[in-house]
Amino acid sequence: MIDIPVRERALDLIGNTPLVRLEGPSAEAGCDIFGKCEFLNPGASVKDRAALYIIRDAEARGDLKPGGTVVEGTAGNTGIGIALVANALGYRTIIVMPDNQSPEKMATLRALGAELVTVPPTKYADCNHFQHVSRRMADEIEGAIWAGQFDNTANRKAHIETTAKELWAQLEGRIDGFTCAAGTGGTIAGVGMGLKELDENIVIALTDPHGAALYNYYAHGELKAEGSSVAEGIGQGRITGNLEGAPIDTQFRISDEEGLVWVARLLREEGLCLGLSSGINVAGAIALGKQLVAEGRENPRVATILCDTGFRYLSTLYNADWLAQKGLPVFEWLKSTD
Ligand code: PMP
Repeated sequence: MIDIPVRERALDLIGNTPLVRLEGPSAEAGCDIFGKCEFLNPGASVKDRAALYIIRDAEARGDLKPGGTVVEGTAGNTGIGIALVANALGYRTIIVMPDNQSPEKMATLRALGAELVTVPPTKYADCNHFQHVSRRMADEIEGAIWAGQFDNTANRKAHIETTAKELWAQLEGRIDGFTCAAGTGGTIAGVGMGLKELDENIVIALTDPHGAALYNYYAHGELKAEGSSVAEGIGQGRITGNLEGAPIDTQFRISDEEGLVWVARLLREEGLCLGLSSGINVAGAIALGKQLVAEGRENPRVATILCDTGFRYLSTLYNADWLAQKGLPVFEWLKSTD
C-alpha cells in the first residue's frame, strides 16, 4: 500500500519533512548522520515553520487581523516563508533585508509579492540595522505586526512542537545527538528543548560559523566573535530571546572551507544541492558524531538540519568568480575549461 497523505491546504505542506541518512558524512564520522530535509518545505527552507508559527501566534493574540500587514527584517528565508504564509492567509508582506544577501533571495521575495526594502548591512547597535528599520516600519503602519523572529519565541516553539517531535518519531526514539548553527537560534533552541523533554541524554551541540560570538559564549561565557563567514542566515552576536535557556551541552566552530567541502560532496556524491549553512551543519554533525563515538556511545545517531536549497545561491556559492573573489576554493566542476 502506498501511503502518501493528501493535504487539505497548501499551508499544511509546511513541516513533516523527510529525514535522510547521509552516506559520506556517516562514513567520515563512523556513525549514522541524518539530515532533516528542510529545503523541501514550500518556501525551500527551515524558516517556513517559524513564519507559520509567528503569524498564527499574532492571530491568536488578536494583534493580526484580516487584511493586516506582516513586517519583518530578515536575511531572506524568513521573508520567503512569511510571504507564502501571508499570501495564503490574506495578509500584506513588507520585508527589510541587508543588500548584501543573494540576488536570488531578493528576486524571489519580489516574485512572491512581498514589498522589499533593502538597507546597507550594519552592526546591530546601529539604528539603521535591518531589524530596527523593520520594527519602526511596523510601528508606523496601521494594522501591521512586526514578526521579530530573533526575540519572538513563537519561532522556537515551532521547533519544540514540530521539528523535535518529527525527528524523535522518524528515528523511533533512537537519537543520541543533534546539532545546527544559529541565526535567530530558533532551530537549535527549539529542537534542543523539544528533544531534551523526550530524552535528557540527547546531546545538543551548537555549530557556530566563524564571525559569530556564540561558540565563545557557550565555551567560555564570553560573547566574542573571531574571523568571518560568507554563510547566509547564520552567525549570531548576541543571546536572542530564542536562545535564552537553550540547552547547549557542547559546541563546535566550523569554517566556510569545511562547510564547502560538504556542500560539494553532498552535491556530487549524494545528489543534494544545498546552501552553505547546511554544509556547516553537516561538518558540525560529523564532529559531534566523532565525539560521541570517542566517549564510548555505541553506534550513536546524530541529526542535523539541511536548511535551504542551493538553487537560492546560483550566483554566489555555485559561481566560480564569486567563490574566487571571496578567496574560497572554487568547486572543480565550475572551473572553466577555456
Ligand atoms: N540557515 C539558513 C540558510 C537560514 O536562513 C537560517 C535562518 N536565519 C538558518 C540557517 C538558521 O535558523 P535559525 O534562525 O532557526 O537559527
